[in-house]
Amino acid sequence: MSDAPIRLAVFDCDGTLVDSQHSIIACMEAAFVAAGLEAPAAEAVRRVVGLPLAASVARLSPQLAAAECARIAELYKQAFTDMRRGNPIDEPLFPGVRELLAALESEGVVLGVATGKGRRGLRITLEHHGLLDRFVTLQTADDAPGKPHPEMLRRAMAETGADPATTAMVGDTTYDILMALSARTAAIGVAWGYHPPHELRAAGAHAVVDAAHEVPPAWLRVAKAAAAEAARARGTPWDAGSSGSPSA
Ligand SMILES: [Mg+2]
Repeated sequence: MSDAPIRLAVFDCDGTLVDSQHSIIACMEAAFVAAGLEAPAAEAVRRVVGLPLAASVARLSPQLAAAECARIAELYKQAFTDMRRGNPIDEPLFPGVRELLAALESEGVVLGVATGKGRRGLRITLEHHGLLDRFVTLQTADDAPGKPHPEMLRRAMAETGADPATTAMVGDTTYDILMALSARTAAIGVAWGYHPPHELRAAGAHAVVDAAHEVPPAWLRVAKAAAAEAARARGTPWDAGSSGSPSA
């Protein structure tokens, strides 16, 4: 075994690995209608993808009591099960994702997932794409507080032996960015998901990428900037042999 620090890339699922908005919107509509309520607008549902289910319902209908939110969350799960019965899963991988995972693995990066999805749903999605065994650690809202709480990311690091300085969270929403900042990892936003890039930047993303193949170089830039910042904080002279002088 080498002594090199473990590098860990933790991915969000919905809106980052897979484009699952159509099934999520359809199930949320079905759940609200089954509860005798008006279905929320598709755009409103896209905004809450990534939060734990009951929290998404509460965000969509703030006037609902907690018990009603929990009931609608159960109706959502039922709708999901019904929809999947006999139907192919309509959750394509985003372009370049499979190649990105392979590229990271070939560099020795350990892969993980942290998602607001339940464990069962996550496993079905990853299995469908033949990706389940690629991820060393799977963190779901079944086992820890949901995003933006940092616990899922902390657990991913603890399970793999990684630390924040060599860990990146990659996600499409401000919930992912805020979780990463709380856990003090690199926060890399992706522009192809459900929150717009300017919101990811405003939330504090260290980088926002437009395409999957841009993740590794963006992570390298973020890590170098963080190392330079840490060196400055320690008062250590910047190593002129690396990528140049610090910017300020
Ligand atoms: Mg997401």
